Amino acid sequence: MSAIYIHIPFCKSKCGYCGFYSLPSLKLKNRFLEALKAEIVGRKGYLKPRPHCGLEPQCPALENEQDTPPINTIYFGGGTPSLLRVTEIGDILHLINKTYTVAPNAEITLEANPDTLSLEYLKDLRQLGVNRLSIGIQSFFDDDLKYLSRRHDAHHALQCLDWAKSAGFDNISIDLIYGLPTSNAEQWNKNLDIFFAYDLPHLSAYALTLEPNSILTKQIEQGKAMPVNEEDALRDYDILCKRAAENGYLHYEISNFCKRGMHSKHNASYWFGTPYAGFGPSAHSFDGASRQWNVSSMEKYLDARRETARLRDQKVPCPEVPRSMSEKETLNPEQLYDEYVMLRLRTHWGIDLKWLKREMGERFSTYCEQHAQPLITQGRLTQTREFLYLTDKQMLFADGVAEELFWE
Ligand code: SF4
Repeated sequence: MSAIYIHIPFCKSKCGYCGFYSLPSLKLKNRFLEALKAEIVGRKGYLKPRPHCGLEPQCPALENEQDTPPINTIYFGGGTPSLLRVTEIGDILHLINKTYTVAPNAEITLEANPDTLSLEYLKDLRQLGVNRLSIGIQSFFDDDLKYLSRRHDAHHALQCLDWAKSAGFDNISIDLIYGLPTSNAEQWNKNLDIFFAYDLPHLSAYALTLEPNSILTKQIEQGKAMPVNEEDALRDYDILCKRAAENGYLHYEISNFCKRGMHSKHNASYWFGTPYAGFGPSAHSFDGASRQWNVSSMEKYLDARRETARLRDQKVPCPEVPRSMSEKETLNPEQLYDEYVMLRLRTHWGIDLKWLKREMGERFSTYCEQHAQPLITQGRLTQTREFLYLTDKQMLFADGVAEELFWE
């Protein structure tokens, strides 16, 4: 099993709260698409059981190796992937299918923003094989959307959901943001009413966080936008957990809720340590032992791809990944343990002590169990048989609990 993430680094304009890498212009789109395609082909080896440099598809080191494990999920994130034409998305999917072995029932998700969608576009996308949509609704209220400097209004948000259903999408997720100073408990409840009324299988709900250097953070500092109150987020989180449970949704990760069996398979692969390759500026990759992340700079991304193409033209065998393009960190067993604890505590699956003992060794499972005891006594962590996990209420404080279980 493995996964592919494609980062589309373009947006029509920057939302005030945004912390993702994206450019507010499509000027470099064609050059980016060329570089992206080169990266998809060039790093084919990354997902092989014994990865090589990944830059030379004909590298002799690849001969006689096992094939790349099948790709089970493909995720177009951003940025705003729905700014691409359907034909451009089709070209990328075609190339992935040609280069990798994609499982016949692979989950193919595209993040979309309402202001870029139309019924025709969604129908074409569905026709192409995209089978899951993640729509950045954020709120069904205009005052919230204005505060977040989103480009769509509440009416268009509703229209997009109707279009997505008419286009044949049945695996639809929406993003909502809570803890907004423009909202209150009643308004947040109404947002959830609309979500439940549409009977969608998946919800990602995030507390508004102020990213350092975001436009909104600066506006608040300058007194030009209403400040954010942590109490509002805690209130809305409580409402969210309660109403999701009442409506039969599983709270399977801090920010994610789904109907039975409808969790994001792609995101789950991050939490389960499945290898994944991320393509595009700022995209992260994991080969099972090391993490690699591309630079958050379009300029450097394009330069690095040019350099790789030049080396390939000169038939330089196995050229190094240009340092300007990506950074890499190899994780030692203690770091892998910390990562497992951190990721799994964010989910309802929790830490599996038996797995820890079998896969990582007894010293890790014993350490974890011992350090968990005071947290269980304090009511900050729950244990059922060999699983350590956080309940709804405890989940919001997952990072603090994880820190106490980290390897010293
Ligand atoms: S649409 Fe998403 S990625 Fe683009 S600026 Fe807004 S929050 Fe950021």
